[in-house]
Amino acid sequence: MLRWLRTLLSRIFHDQSPAPRPAQRSWTRPRLDVPRYAGAGEAPPMHWKPCHPATVRRFKAQFACPNGHGIILKGHSIDADGTVHPSVVCPVPACDFHDFVRLSRWDAGSI
Ligand SMILES: [Zn+2]
Repeated sequence: MLRWLRTLLSRIFHDQSPAPRPAQRSWTRPRLDVPRYAGAGEAPPMHWKPCHPATVRRFKAQFACPNGHGIILKGHSIDADGTVHPSVVCPVPACDFHDFVRLSRWDAGSI
């Protein structure tokens, strides 16, 4: 196609071309904000508590699913804001808990 014609067509159709789409933002699923448990013993259902400071880099946190099953988040990474990656799956076969969580008041940084 001749250059002038291409330029002409592009000028004619310029206003009709669809607006450029905004940059695709990665979709993030809403996360469950799990409250921190500060008491003694196991964390109650849908709470978390930090692991001992000496082992926090390895075991990170204890988490209890809604059915009270304890889960150690040692295979996960945790952002400075408490967002846990990947999603948390309860290892108890009869339990169907599987969700994306954020540990409220997480203060051990990104690990
Ligand atoms: Zn469970």
